[in-house]
Amino acid sequence: MALAHARAELSYLAMTDARSPTLDSEAAAAVRAAFSCGPPPPLVDVLNEHCPECRATSLRVAGRRWDAIGIADLEGNTEIPLFTAVAFRYYVPIFMLVCIEEPTRADCMPLGVVERLAPKNRKPSAELAELRAKMTTAQRAAVHAFLRAMRERDPGSKPVSRALEYWAGV
Ligand SMILES: [Zn+2]
Repeated sequence: MALAHARAELSYLAMTDARSPTLDSEAAAAVRAAFSCGPPPPLVDVLNEHCPECRATSLRVAGRRWDAIGIADLEGNTEIPLFTAVAFRYYVPIFMLVCIEEPTRADCMPLGVVERLAPKNRKPSAELAELRAKMTTAQRAAVHAFLRAMRERDPGSKPVSRALEYWAGV
């Protein structure tokens, strides 16, 4: 009787909240374990001087360690595509953590991060191939765990499917 009640409650929870706290916390733990935080890259590689918006976006993080960055630095439509390749590679752990742990305040950030991890037309850009090649096995597995958490939130997302396919088989 008690078990049946617990089951009914679980299926009710599954209906009202598609997110799994387990998948989220596993992905966050995998990111934290896989990416240690070295010193930030030189400003010249992080600052994007293309236009005022690119500059403002890069200044949200420039010169700071990724583990000193939080949602307060990134909320308000941070345009992930505007980061340089070097900046994205260094800050991707905190981008993933914010997407997992602050989904409401992160707003559209998850799509920006996923898009940058997904090959267009099944062919990775040179930048994406380099990002993947420079990661350790544990880091690739953490990216895959992040993508699984994102798929759970948005199961029909094509960018998430493309990215998952690319990051599978770490
Ligand atoms: Zn620009």
